Amino acid sequence: MSESKIYPVPPAIAATAHINQARYQQLYQQSVKDPDGFWAEQAQEFVTWFQPWTRVLDYNYGPDEVYIRWFEGGKLNVAYNCLDRHLEKRGDQVAIVWESDDPNVDRRLTYRELHTEVCKLANVLKSRGVNKGDRVCIYMPMIPEAAVAMLACARIGAVHSVVFGGFSPDSLRDRILDSDCRVLITADEGVRGGRHVPLKKNADHAMAECPDVTTCLVVKRTGNAVEWRDGRDIWYHDAMAGASDQCAAEPMDAEDPLFILYTSGSTGKPKGVLHTTGGYLVFAAMTHRYSFDYQDGEMYWCTADVGWVTGHTYIVYGPLANGAKSLMFEGIPNYPDMSRFWQVVDKHQVNIFYTAPTAIRALMRAGEAPVKQTSRASLRILGSVGEPINPEAWEWYYHVVGDGRCPIADTWWQTETGGHLITPLPGATPLKPGSATQPFFGVVPALVDATDGTPIAGAGEGALVITRPWPGQMRTVYGDHQRFIDTYFKQYPGYYFSGDGARRDNDGDYWITGRIDDVLNVSGHRLGTAEIESALVLHSAVAEAAVVGYPHDIKGQGIYAYVTVMAGITQTDELKRELVQLVRNEIGAIATVDIIQWAPSLPKTRSGKIMRRILRKIAANEISTLGDTSTLADPTVVEELIAHRANQ
Ligand code: ATP
Ligand code: MG
Repeated sequence: MSESKIYPVPPAIAATAHINQARYQQLYQQSVKDPDGFWAEQAQEFVTWFQPWTRVLDYNYGPDEVYIRWFEGGKLNVAYNCLDRHLEKRGDQVAIVWESDDPNVDRRLTYRELHTEVCKLANVLKSRGVNKGDRVCIYMPMIPEAAVAMLACARIGAVHSVVFGGFSPDSLRDRILDSDCRVLITADEGVRGGRHVPLKKNADHAMAECPDVTTCLVVKRTGNAVEWRDGRDIWYHDAMAGASDQCAAEPMDAEDPLFILYTSGSTGKPKGVLHTTGGYLVFAAMTHRYSFDYQDGEMYWCTADVGWVTGHTYIVYGPLANGAKSLMFEGIPNYPDMSRFWQVVDKHQVNIFYTAPTAIRALMRAGEAPVKQTSRASLRILGSVGEPINPEAWEWYYHVVGDGRCPIADTWWQTETGGHLITPLPGATPLKPGSATQPFFGVVPALVDATDGTPIAGAGEGALVITRPWPGQMRTVYGDHQRFIDTYFKQYPGYYFSGDGARRDNDGDYWITGRIDDVLNVSGHRLGTAEIESALVLHSAVAEAAVVGYPHDIKGQGIYAYVTVMAGITQTDELKRELVQLVRNEIGAIATVDIIQWAPSLPKTRSGKIMRRILRKIAANEISTLGDTSTLADPTVVEELIAHRANQ
């Protein structure tokens, strides 16, 4: 790949940042030389404890036995930290700004109001028999009640399992059963892009096969008619009307479970990731403040859904623990038009904006005009998460959206990691488009040879592993500890294995190359999917691309590219030849794309990630064994690609 540009830290950002370059070096050194001392300090600074811990960290990274325990003996409550402790100083400050799907409707909740709602719902849950340790399923649209529900669970020590509101009844049923939830919180309908999503109806279908669900609380969002089962179904507003607003926060052990969250399912059957209380909260709050350089009083907007870990850590827990103003958006980027994100930025004077590459690429496809008709002058920091961001998309985000003023935090992390592990810090880290750059405090990443596991020193490429625990690390796969060990600790003994591949350059900056299972082996050369895809989208005719390997008689693996063109572009063989040449020029002759298939759209998870494992099956003509497709956003995309599979 051609050498990338470096964008230095803007002096104005460095001047006021929590962390500048020197401070990053100093704190990072301290965090790895004296982890116990470092994390004890951070835990004091970011969290209010009812009782101090007796031991900072105790762990075993396997291979046979794996456990991770942070701040043992410590007692705290997450809802107390996100609400009660702010009441004195900022009770009347806004906590959640809600922007509805309809641009003319919004709502604000102060910390005091949110506290009241959470206490009431906590009492409602108790009255329905929910005890500490019980699981509660939350299947909600993006409305403030989703956050209220999460915090109400945390307040009484119940374990929430949020299921993204875009999931089908079957997916919801599987998740309810897997974690044995007895209470479900949902809404009559959700609203997205002007369309209604039949949440209660889906929930009814799911509950038909979940006999143990005894309570279904239903928030009235649209007021349209829904079916009702007396005794089980209860209107949220009715239950809340009679509930007391006094509810003491349950003192929880640091290692008590906080939530279960199922992974996106990009690589296979979703895993029920379990996070606990103390370490998670410390890590959520700290990464939120430092990765985005959040300054008191700023308006912060993460566009994720609360159904994903990004919504958990960076809409609810991190921002609220820091007493921030967190914007919650019900809608989608292209409704009513392609300018919506930037209109919302102007309307609410957003300072920090955090979104995903899939959204950036989709907006890029529509050109600059919808962006440029807005001011965006309030923006200070931008963020990206979910997939590698192609340098082309990065530059567009930086120059067009951020007007060249706003550092981009390209945050690499996972449901499993609870919070950011590799990310630039706005005031400290020079940026390279497409690189997640440097490890966060206390995080010690390493690269190992993907086949034999030998550590790679200096610049190089391999499987990305983490050498020791960080507080936000998952503790187990719910109900299947063996799967936890097998998935993350077996392949490279002594390390946490992320499943991703990465390259480290001479400056020590990390470049995520994609899932290690997706790495191609072409005539003995290992090629990351991210690099080839980034080369393809450099072409002005290309909006998006996904690359997989397929069995090739001579090369071992050939390169198969699915390419989505920009609106209005004609798909010609001439264009295919240009693309093949472009990739060769960018990466080298070894990266000669063998087959290009035009793709009207790409199969994605409901969180917007490209599902390469399905594309691999189509390329290899193994249509009968596509694997778990339950988390596909739109199954018709797959049928379309199969029907027009390129000849080999
Ligand atoms: P599953 O684990 O079920 O296959 P998933 O991995 O897509 O699903 P998530 O936890 O939502 O579920 O996603 C984490 C993954 O997303 C990472 O392992 C990585 O592949 C990708 N990712 C997230 N952020 C970045 C980033 N900034 N740069 C590159 N890749 C990223
Ligand atoms: Mg994963």
